[in-house]
Amino acid sequence: LREKIRELELSFTQKYPPVKFLSEKDRKRILITGGAGFVGSHLTDKLMMDGHEVTVVDNFFTGRKRNVEHWIGHENFELINHDVVEPLYIEVDQIYHLASPASPPNYMYNPIKTLKTNTIGTLNMLGLAKRVGARLLLASTSEVYGDPEVHPQNEDYWGHVNPIGPRACYDEGKRVAETMCYAYMKQEGVEVRVARIFNTFGSRMHMNDGRVVSNFILQALQGEPLTVFLFLPSDLVNGLVSLMNNNISSPVNLGNPEEHTILEFAQLIKSLVVSRSHIQFLPEAQDDPQRRRPDIRKAKMLLGWEPVVPLEEGLNKTIQYFSRELEHQANNQYI
Ligand code: NAD
Ligand code: UDP
Repeated sequence: LREKIRELELSFTQKYPPVKFLSEKDRKRILITGGAGFVGSHLTDKLMMDGHEVTVVDNFFTGRKRNVEHWIGHENFELINHDVVEPLYIEVDQIYHLASPASPPNYMYNPIKTLKTNTIGTLNMLGLAKRVGARLLLASTSEVYGDPEVHPQNEDYWGHVNPIGPRACYDEGKRVAETMCYAYMKQEGVEVRVARIFNTFGSRMHMNDGRVVSNFILQALQGEPLTVFLFLPSDLVNGLVSLMNNNISSPVNLGNPEEHTILEFAQLIKSLVVSRSHIQFLPEAQDDPQRRRPDIRKAKMLLGWEPVVPLEEGLNKTIQYFSRELEHQANNQYI
């Protein structure tokens, strides 16, 4: 009984999720730019729980405080409202550079700002890495492959991007960001890691993100028509941390090689949500990649990494998160 009471007492006093103890020599000071966003906040959770000191830098363009609020006040955590387009002077050991809008509606909302974030923002973070001798991991994207002419895509493929199309601010921004990483590596000896991330979904992604999974779930939950590869933040976060702490400086694809057509996806989501939505076909958007699938042999061989969370489990979790968010929104509307 005494133990039960102690457990209860602890659960009341423990304000934060449990954090491992790390000795000074193993504890790192880690900067996560874009740490209040979807992927960044899951990465924050992992690194905090692993016992590191985490500084999140975010301008809250698409991220929000709510995603990391459970750490606010913790002695190992700091949240800085800062735009990476402006220089940043802090002392850190590792930088996960994630700051950038990630979905088409968000990055097309202000293409010039997207370009500035990916170019000047990345330059600033590389300048910081150079000054303090930190290792920098860039969250790059499968979009560097554009609308690919080879299938699946491995890291040696140079891509097929329209440099003046509507997606160029993001695709070319990330391509330049990669170029900058290797220029700083060669010229200044900065240690860099480049993860080419394929479409990821899960809790804390924006409901109005505009990408396939969020659209389908939202439309299915709201009974609207479903307007017709993915993997989960936990898989992705493990891949990012493993890449950061490995010695591979060339780009590595992180994604799920299981391939589905968009129609299959729409049907699966419709059945999981038990929705009456019907599937509607609309004309395609300009420069939309026709088909994409990562070749992840490199990550498997060198990092021993591959996604493990089954698709349906991930979708169900995301659906639950979205329905709670919709409820939350509906309740707040009438207060
Ligand atoms: P997100 O929009 O949820 O997170 C991006 C974060 O960066 C947000 O918190 C946003 O407020 C912040 N940010 C944007 N511009 C900034 C600036 N100028 N200064 C400071 N902070 C800024 O997106 P996400 O899905 O978490 O993506 C994170 C990273 O991963 C991005 O770099 C994205 O390009 C990359 N990525 C994501 C996916 C995916 O499927 N989610 C796929 C490929 C690549
Ligand atoms: N920078 C930064 N934080 C630092 C060091 C540099 O934000 O701790 C920025 C700096 O403002 C510069 C950019 O990173 O615009 C590139 O830095 P670098 O030292 O490579 O270039 P330089 O300052 O010599 O132009």
